[in-house]
Amino acid sequence: MSALQNRQFKLIKRPSGLVKRSDFEFTTAPVSQPGPGEVLVKVLYISLDPAMRGWMNEGRSYVPPVGLGEVMRAGGLGRVVASNDPSLAVGDHVVGITGIQDYTIATANAMRRVDPRLAPLPRYLGALGMPGMTAYFGLLDICDPKPGETVVVSGAAGAVGALVGQIAKIKGCRVVGIAGGPAKCRYLTEELGFDAAIDYKSEDVNKALKQHCPNGINVYFDNVGGEILEAVLAQLALKARVSICGAISQYNNIEGIQGPRNYLSLLINRARMEGFIVFDYLARYPEGVKAMAGWIAEGKLKAREDIVDGLETFPETLLKLFSGENFGKLMIKVADE
Ligand code: NAP
Repeated sequence: MSALQNRQFKLIKRPSGLVKRSDFEFTTAPVSQPGPGEVLVKVLYISLDPAMRGWMNEGRSYVPPVGLGEVMRAGGLGRVVASNDPSLAVGDHVVGITGIQDYTIATANAMRRVDPRLAPLPRYLGALGMPGMTAYFGLLDICDPKPGETVVVSGAAGAVGALVGQIAKIKGCRVVGIAGGPAKCRYLTEELGFDAAIDYKSEDVNKALKQHCPNGINVYFDNVGGEILEAVLAQLALKARVSICGAISQYNNIEGIQGPRNYLSLLINRARMEGFIVFDYLARYPEGVKAMAGWIAEGKLKAREDIVDGLETFPETLLKLFSGENFGKLMIKVADE
């Protein structure tokens, strides 16, 4: 075991704006042995998530910041290569917090076993993993969409957004997606069955929302915040529900987050805006996974992954989330299955 080497990305600087390679140190250390109740996991895929940018900042959040000198935190999927706990055996596939590295040592009960015979492994980091659960609970639990209602989702061609729109269609809603560029917009309407798509990079979002949501917006699933949130708030219907999932347009701001100036639209429309963190739904994941897997099997829901090869690409690959270059759930393939 001691011959195994572990490549690791450690955070060494608090980034200002977009991350840079120099915010990290890429080092190699020998792999150590798992202690009692622990497993050693060989990492196969690492999930890249917009939230990782927030974890690099100092300050209060829903999890503590990654400490300087620590391995960068990330979700991932791997194979158990040594186990000191009866609940996991060598060869089992697991998901959990792996960090940006080749190997991780974790307490066995912090990892969730997944079955490679039921779905391709990367799907457990996408539609059947954290982003899938975010879409499922963030839409259904927070917004309770009803058949015939108009649902708008931003970041609509991304990991979470594409699933939100498809779940809303399954629930009988009229769905309008907001995404960047013609290819992503075509994907939404032609492949995923959205009723309309708005290209925020080339269209006037206010005007397009008026056109596509003539009776107002009943449900808004917000992945991006900023000006798009403001445009949607201006078109809310009575008793609308807004799910605050994320605000990617604001994560790299150097001068603080810009909130919507027109929040009194919530008052006028007796509407509700609510934030959520997917990890609060951990106990209900089996319900969400069962529903998502069922819809995929029935051909009602499509999952798309965007897989980049090589642990060493981490800083540049993460940036794809903020430039919109990713198309589907972004992850890094670290090693062959
Ligand atoms: P993703 O949508 O797959 O990737 C991010 C996308 O955001 C990019 O592809 C890009 O798409 C869009 N984007 C980037 N900068 C933008 C900007 N300035 N304005 C508008 N759009 C921009 O990522 P994801 O993993 O599904 O995450 C989506 C959101 O969900 C994020 O805000 C994330 O923080 C949040 N989230 C929250 C929870 C929770 O528990 N609350 C859990 C998971 C994720 P375009 O090409 O369309 O611009």
